[in-house]
Order: sequence, then structure tokens, then C-alpha cells
Amino acid sequence: MTDTPLKLFNSLTRQAEVFEPVHPGEARVYTCGPTVYNYPHIGNMRAYVFADVLGRTLSWKGLKLTHVINITDVGHLTDDADAGEDKMEKMAAQQAQSIWDIAEHYKQAYWADVRALNIRQPAQWTVATDYVPQMVTFAKGIADKHCYELESGLYFDVSTVADYGRLARAYTEDGEGRIEAVEGKRNAADFAIWRKTPAGETRQMEWDSPWGKGAPGWHLECSVMSGEVLGFPFDIHTGGIDHREIHHPNEIAQNQAHCCTNGLDDPRNSGARIWMHNNFLVERSGKMSKSSGEFLRLQLLIDKGYHPLAYRLMCLQAHYRSELEFSWEGLGAALTRLRRMVMAVEALIEATDRSSEHRLRDGFTQKVLDDFGEAMSDDLATPRALAAFELFALQGAPKFSAAIVNDEAAKQGLCNARLDALEAMDEVFGLGLMNLTRADLRIRPKSATITETEIEAALSRRKEARAAKDFAASDAIRDELAAQGVEVMDGDPLGWEWKLG
Ligand code: AMP
Ligand code: ZN
Repeated sequence: MTDTPLKLFNSLTRQAEVFEPVHPGEARVYTCGPTVYNYPHIGNMRAYVFADVLGRTLSWKGLKLTHVINITDVGHLTDDADAGEDKMEKMAAQQAQSIWDIAEHYKQAYWADVRALNIRQPAQWTVATDYVPQMVTFAKGIADKHCYELESGLYFDVSTVADYGRLARAYTEDGEGRIEAVEGKRNAADFAIWRKTPAGETRQMEWDSPWGKGAPGWHLECSVMSGEVLGFPFDIHTGGIDHREIHHPNEIAQNQAHCCTNGLDDPRNSGARIWMHNNFLVERSGKMSKSSGEFLRLQLLIDKGYHPLAYRLMCLQAHYRSELEFSWEGLGAALTRLRRMVMAVEALIEATDRSSEHRLRDGFTQKVLDDFGEAMSDDLATPRALAAFELFALQGAPKFSAAIVNDEAAKQGLCNARLDALEAMDEVFGLGLMNLTRADLRIRPKSATITETEIEAALSRRKEARAAKDFAASDAIRDELAAQGVEVMDGDPLGWEWKLG
């Protein structure tokens, strides 16, 4: 994998490009993080699984990774352009709580999902409200040349930078995105970088500025936090495809103004070398919408008995630039796929003496590593890499040829080399296969009332009845279990004797 050059698709140039670090040996990545006004849905989490796989791939390439993800706790309006209310203020009013408490609660909930999905901790989580003085300084620096003041705030004049909206134009028909009219704006696409608190009002979150009391705009936040921590230009900026329309073009315009650079023919003038965007997770019945009551949160999947890493695997099954359709059947299939791999890897671990230092890499192991590396280097082609990985994982312990069947050192060398390869590839996928067990994957649905001990006891009574050829009793036990939501799986090829759900 380290030999194949890494190619990544740059949304700004609309082509796959060989990754060449701005700072040799390093990779600096900024990911647009959540607005912590509500629980993330699993679509949001797809964006962070993608950024995590990108970061893990860069690490595997031997690059020193500095990953930053921000937490937006102020300034994101209900519309990505300048219309609507502040999402945080709106939720705080609905729940009659302080904005700070709302932010803390949902930040913790987001972090719980991050941990459950094996998303690695970034070098830094930048919280927007910690950077307000830097935002004011940034805004002051570009105000004279690029901004103008209206009653509602300080606005960025998009006609003052070259190529405004190039990123959006590549993907939207009119190239302008959704723009709301604000009286006095010079251009429809101009946006607020500082929103003033209306006269006579007080906001829970407001700061002094040369333009009066108010709060920073959402786009300003990301420009400032990415530039402060990573330095312009940094290597890669990521987000979901919705950000190609307004948020990222506006960040780019601010970065151009701040860095005093012009046109975007050189992508570095945008503040980052490469802009990457994950496609959406979609669901037909609208359960992804946070206003739909029981929306698709990771916790809902867990409550229904699905291990969160089955969702991570589901994400890996699709290329990040393809739309991914969510269904419970699809999630169930991913869980089965994960179980099969876990059981085969368990068998390999059992057959291996990890204290042995002997390594014997066979041709098969090498071929799988090569195929995996090629696929990941090809703009993170996880479906192809997963196919190679799965084929390998499912082999479990190797079959030993007659030549080495009595050679314990050779056998251990072979097994250990396989485990090393699995571990290295799994470090990129982040499925945690080396530590997952069958028992971990068996999650009790919240609605289940029967305990595992009771199930196991009923099953052993059933085994006795079958041994005594008392099939009526055996069937009765199976029916009783079925009534409590337990499916007995006789002869399951996975050796999975029962399933709750
Ligand atoms: P937000 O908290 O709304 O700013 O969104 C967090 C991240 O999730 C952003 O990068 C969005 O682009 C991304 N996102 C939103 N909806 C989806 C979805 N259905 N599928 C994948 N990514 C999404
Ligand atoms: Zn952002």
C-alpha cells in the first residue's frame, strides 16, 4: 500500500489527484463538525466515518496526521444562507434550557457515537465559542477590502474575490445555491460574517466587536479554526456534499481574502489543497429528518439489537462519493457479514501463538495486501478493499500443506503473518476485528424481556428433549422462545444458535 501513490478526488478541480503533502511527511486535515443543537443522525455520522477512514489511510501511508474537527455551538442558522434562526438558540428556547447546556449535552452525545463507531480522536476538537477573539481579528483584517456593514451585520462582498462560487458552480445548476434576500445586499450571494444582536435585544451568546454586539457567522468560524490550527494552506478539507453549495464556497472566499490570494486555478489559494465531500445516506421514508420524531440515531440502531460497527461496515460497503441507501435489511446483512469475519478471525487467533516472533508471509497474504492497498489508494475505494479483506478474513486459520504440517515454527510464522496483515488492514477500516468477539456482537434489543441466561437454559433443555427424541417438548420450547422474540437457528452455518429481534 505504501508503494502505490494515493489519489484523492478534489471537488474543486473535479478530478482525482495524487496526494502531495504541503509539508513533507505530514497530512493536515480539517473536517466540518456537527452543530450541537440536536443528536446527530446516522447520515451525519457517515461524514465522520468517511473522514476517519481518510485519516486512517493517510496514517497507513506513513504520514504524520493532524486532524481537526470542529464543534459548532453558535452561529449556524436554520438555513445555510442567511435566513432563519440560530439552530442553537431555537433548540434552547424549545427545551427551555441555556444554550451552553444544550451544547454540552449534544456534544457529549455526538462523542458517544464517535466512540461507538471506532472513529479515532482527532488531534484537536475545536469549539467555535473558544475562538471568537480570533474570529473578530480575522474579520477586522478583511473588513476594509471585502466587507460592508448593514443594520443586521457585517457582510462579505463576493464580487471582491476572483472565481467566487467555483466549487458550487461545478455541482449546482445555477451555481448560486439557495440565496435568501436581505435588504441592502450588494450581491445575492453576499453573506454575513458577523451578525449583530438587534437593537434592544440581548442574546444568550453574544460578544463585543467593532460592529457592535453580536455573534460570528458559521462560515467565518470554519475559516478561522482551520487556519489557526492547521495554517493556510493545509492539505485536505472535508464535509458532506451539501457544503459544496454555500458553506465551503463562502469559506473559500474568506480564505482568499485573508490570505490575499486570487483566482482558484491554483487550488491552494482556497486555503486547502484538496476539498473532499462525502455523498449522503438516504432513507426513503424520511426517518433521517430530525423533525420526524423517532429519527435514525445510532442509539436507535443499538436499541434494536444492531451493533454500531455493523453500521460502520455498511458505510464501508459503499464508496464515499456514492449515495448510500439505508434499510434495516441492509444493516442486518452488514451485521451478518461482520459476524462471519469476527468468527473466522477468532479461529485464526486461537490457532496462533502471538508470542512467536517468526513470520512467513505467503503469496496469498501478499496478494491481498497489494489488492487492498491499490483499492484504498484509488480514492478510497472501500468496497473493493473490503472484498479483498473479507476473502482473506474468512479464511481464518490457513490450511497447512503436507510440507509444513509437522513444522510448528513454519505454521506459527504463517498464522502470525496473516494476523499482522489483518491487523494492518483493519487499522485502516477501523472495525476493531482483532478485539471483537461473537458475544460483543450479540446486543439485546431494548424491547427484549428475556435474558441470555434464560435463553441458554431453555436451549439446553431443548437439546435434552431432542436427545430423548421428545420432539413435542422440543417444539414447545422453540415456540415459547419465539413468543419472546427469540429465533432458534438450528443448523446455522455460522454456528449462531439463536437470535433476538
Ligand atoms: P450538521 O451537523 O448539520 O452541520 O452536519 C454534519 C455533517 O453531516 C456535515 O458534514 C453534513 O454535510 C453531513 N450530512 C448531513 N446529512 C447527511 C446525510 N444524510 N448523509 C451524509 N452526510 C450528511
Ligand atoms: Zn465548516
